[in-house]
Amino acid sequence: MSEQLSSYLFPKLQGRPKADGIGNGIFAVAPIKKGELMAVFGGVVYEWDTFIHLPERERSLCIQVEDRLFLVPDKIGEGDYVNHSCNPNAGLSGQIGLVAMRDIQPGEEVCFDYAMSDTMPYDEFECGCGQKNCRGRVSGNDWQKPELQKRYAGFFAPHVQRRIDAVRAHQRMMAREARRAKLRGYASAALPKSLYE
Ligand SMILES: [Zn+2]
Repeated sequence: MSEQLSSYLFPKLQGRPKADGIGNGIFAVAPIKKGELMAVFGGVVYEWDTFIHLPERERSLCIQVEDRLFLVPDKIGEGDYVNHSCNPNAGLSGQIGLVAMRDIQPGEEVCFDYAMSDTMPYDEFECGCGQKNCRGRVSGNDWQKPELQKRYAGFFAPHVQRRIDAVRAHQRMMAREARRAKLRGYASAALPKSLYE
């Protein structure tokens, strides 16, 4: 068995304990440009029913990659220490790539928003990111928030984007139906009474 770690962290980043002493994080050690790939996650893919019984630590280091599928690192390394922020500087590229949403300076912690990958209730918590726009509780339903859909356009995992697209298509269909019903209403109201007699 190879000793290679499951996830790959690019050399411009480093995983280490956070200054506040609460857990680990990944930090830029060189300037990073907007759009640069910073990490590629790896591991073993679990279906929900198996995944939900894994130890808490493994579950907390995973990333949801499909509707009911979760990628869990097998050999845990610094590339798995990416944290959530409600004001992130990173987003997802595909299912397992982490890219810079803006230029990042050395020393900055690199975080993404779990709303970009999560649609299931497996890692919900009271957020302590400390950002001005912190939404308080982070849940598996946050991808449904219109303001997040707008802010993270292009940075959602494909399975989340498909859900967003499906909801929007449904809303457009409902709006079309409502417009048609309204037009039918006008049309029948405008018919001369004699037609009914
Ligand atoms: Zn927060």
